[in-house]
Amino acid sequence: MNDLKQKKTVLIVEDERDILYTLKDFLESENYHVLTAENGFEAMEAIKGFGIPHLILLDMKMPIMNGWEFAIEFLDKHDHQSPIVVMTAAANAEERAKDISAVGWVEKPFDLDVLLKTVRKYERKSL
Ligand SMILES: [Mg+2]
Repeated sequence: MNDLKQKKTVLIVEDERDILYTLKDFLESENYHVLTAENGFEAMEAIKGFGIPHLILLDMKMPIMNGWEFAIEFLDKHDHQSPIVVMTAAANAEERAKDISAVGWVEKPFDLDVLLKTVRKYERKSL
């Protein structure tokens, strides 16, 4: 059996490596397949290489291509095929999420239980 086919894929886009790899390890321990990118450009490349993930966790402030720019390009190319969840420390998290048509948001610093519940709530059930 191909294990990857049984797993949901989450693309994490985050320029702070501590956060990126903490989340990766955590979601892998919860049996997700995880793609990582350190900016929006790398995220578009990851999607080109792998395909559409079941969910995208998106940081907003990143170098090269930030979360807003990524969301515009992703929606333009792929419409709403992957739900996007914004990761932000901003007080106006809900507005940030609405700005880019994200389905939801998680606040930094993370509560990993909340993060997992949010991922499970919004992940695509099939692709
Ligand atoms: Mg950042």
